Amino acid sequence: MRSSYMKAVAAGAALVLLTACGGGNGGNGGDGGDGGTAKTTVPTPPPPPAGGHAHGAEAPLGAVTVDGMKIEALQGHGALTAGALGHLVIKLPYSDSGATIVRAWIGTEDRSAALVGKGDYAAAHDDYDIHAEAPDPLPPGGAWWFEIEKPDGSTHVGSIGYLTVIPGG
Ligand SMILES: [Zn+2]
Repeated sequence: MRSSYMKAVAAGAALVLLTACGGGNGGNGGDGGDGGTAKTTVPTPPPPPAGGHAHGAEAPLGAVTVDGMKIEALQGHGALTAGALGHLVIKLPYSDSGATIVRAWIGTEDRSAALVGKGDYAAAHDDYDIHAEAPDPLPPGGAWWFEIEKPDGSTHVGSIGYLTVIPGG
């Protein structure tokens, strides 16, 4: 009596295991195997929020010309405050699908005292999101500094003023 009960339990467990495996394999096969149907439902993934947090409205900082390149910049995270994580958006005058490396820091041109953030290319907007921690206190004459490292290895450094007050906000 007891042994047949155990057999039934074992059989049930095996069945569950098989079902779980079958489901998993089916899911994987559907993704990779059938390219035809996958193409019809191309998902446009939302840009992942950098650092796992949501970004509000980005305030335009204007544009600056660096070595003949017109760089547009915006600031996220609202007004910049000392010691807080700042967010800079850099828009290059050309589209390279993320081949350029963009770094940024907050403060003065001497980046040795600053925390340099590396940009994440956002394909949806064709721009670069960079997070960098603001020094505390904010230095006099401080700005967003950025370095653009092109695929050819050349680097171009520029700066643009940050906003400690958001106009109209
Ligand atoms: Zn952010």
